[in-house]
Amino acid sequence: MQIIRFTALISFFLLISGVLCSNALAQWHRLPFQTMGTQAYVELWAEDDNLGKDLLIAVQTEFERINQLMSPYIDSSELSLLNRDAASRPVSVSSELYQLLQQAEQLARLSDGAFDISFASVGFSYDYRQHIKPSAVELDKQRSLINYRHIQLLADNQVKFSLPGLKIDLGGIAKGYAVEQAISLLAKAGIKHALVTAGGDTRLLGDKRGRPWLVAIKHPRKEDGIVAQLPLTDSAISTSGDYERFFIEDGVRYHHILDPKSGQSPSGLMSVTVLGPDSTRTDAMSTTLFVMGLERGMAFIEQQAEFEAIFISSEHQLYFSSGLEQ
Ligand code: ADP
Ligand code: MG
Repeated sequence: MQIIRFTALISFFLLISGVLCSNALAQWHRLPFQTMGTQAYVELWAEDDNLGKDLLIAVQTEFERINQLMSPYIDSSELSLLNRDAASRPVSVSSELYQLLQQAEQLARLSDGAFDISFASVGFSYDYRQHIKPSAVELDKQRSLINYRHIQLLADNQVKFSLPGLKIDLGGIAKGYAVEQAISLLAKAGIKHALVTAGGDTRLLGDKRGRPWLVAIKHPRKEDGIVAQLPLTDSAISTSGDYERFFIEDGVRYHHILDPKSGQSPSGLMSVTVLGPDSTRTDAMSTTLFVMGLERGMAFIEQQAEFEAIFISSEHQLYFSSGLEQ
């Protein structure tokens, strides 16, 4: 009797100390940081404290690495190099950038040009902070330079533009790609529960230890307001909105998403949120659906297995794709 009680006591203490020990080491690690011209955030559960700290820095470093490769604001980026030289000669790029250009081309074809990274031929003439837009004459000229078919993806990771003046920008896909890369880095390091977000793109790894992550959809007109909170695990969610970068002139909202056909900002929607398996595609697709508008966009997303969408129209109406309706 005594012995049994004693062993019970010992195992009780072992249990307590075990819990205390694992609590001291295993914990949530969080880091907000600025990258790619936006606010980013990583949150992860690590069994090992040092590993957790190292991985926060690794995520931040990964974002910066991709930024150095793809930023239009960095003269030495591969993207800048393409925009400078690819119209006059084939330019060799990393297989990483090449593969992202392939993904962009795939969506351009699929969306009949609603997603088109050569939107930048016009896009670079806008400066939303300075309230600068192209004149009607400039717009007309530059619009004819938007055409993804002139971005030639050649053998051996070479890229050539077959239209002088054509420019590209990866603002509609690079952030989602970086978020996806960060998550795969964490997964490879053995992490089972994490959230990575940058601007409007979020990717969840696993759940939040026994419960789903909650991801909010911003209110398109109320600063800090939200319209919904979605419980999600192991998936990606991206929002494109007309409120991120914009200015208003003579009652017209000029914002950072451009319809490649007109060179102008579409006005039918205030935001589109896309849910799917990876943030590279949800990012690009939210931009695509914004350009397509409610009717075309809804028809398009219904054709994409694995993806769902929530549209908020200019009249403040919410529309859900069929997989989200209950
Ligand atoms: P955010 O950059 O705020 O996350 P989005 O994912 O909606 O927002 O991407 C908007 C960005 O996509 C723009 O800032 C621009 O760089 C790029 N973009 C705008 N129009 C198009 C388009 N038609 N096709 C591809 N990319 C676009
Ligand atoms: Mg997007």
